[in-house]
Amino acid sequence: MGDANNDQNNFLKNMRTQLTNRSKYYLVAIMKTIKKKISFAELDEKTRWFEGQCRQAGLKVTPQRIAIYRELLQTDEHPSAEMLYEKVKKIFSSISLDTVNRTLLTLNEIGAAFTVEGSGDARRFDGGLDKHQHFKCVKCKRIVDFHHKPFDNIKIPAEISKKFTVLRKTVYLEGICDLCRYP
Ligand SMILES: [Zn+2]
Ligand SMILES: [Zn+2]
Repeated sequence: MGDANNDQNNFLKNMRTQLTNRSKYYLVAIMKTIKKKISFAELDEKTRWFEGQCRQAGLKVTPQRIAIYRELLQTDEHPSAEMLYEKVKKIFSSISLDTVNRTLLTLNEIGAAFTVEGSGDARRFDGGLDKHQHFKCVKCKRIVDFHHKPFDNIKIPAEISKKFTVLRKTVYLEGICDLCRYP
């Protein structure tokens, strides 16, 4: 136990040293050890990919952008801009909700995230680019990921593909979730 704590302390110390020399986003990784659903390795790999996407789109790779993207990757809540803002402001206390909002829309534009379908409520974002579908509870607004393979291969009707260019197709289910159904 003591050893584990020492390891953790050394890890944090090393990270802090790196922080002064390099970009600040490592801090996010440290703070999120409890809730991560992806490994550090995967997180770093995706971050590098994201930096590439930014550069390709002529965007600056700012620590704030990186932090927002990494927060998004580490949650399966499908957060709104407000939800992310609450998290990111713990790291960048001066960040504004507007910045978070605009960053999320930028992520959307460069294909690093997308908005979850469904209307009426605050826009919700998803950084999970692996194929999956959503169930949204109309009562508690929870958005749950699921993956049903046949839904990946839905055919687009000819009359649509003749007229329009389809960029994304998705199956979206809405209803009452288990927690609301059997409280
Ligand atoms: Zn519910
Ligand atoms: Zn999702």
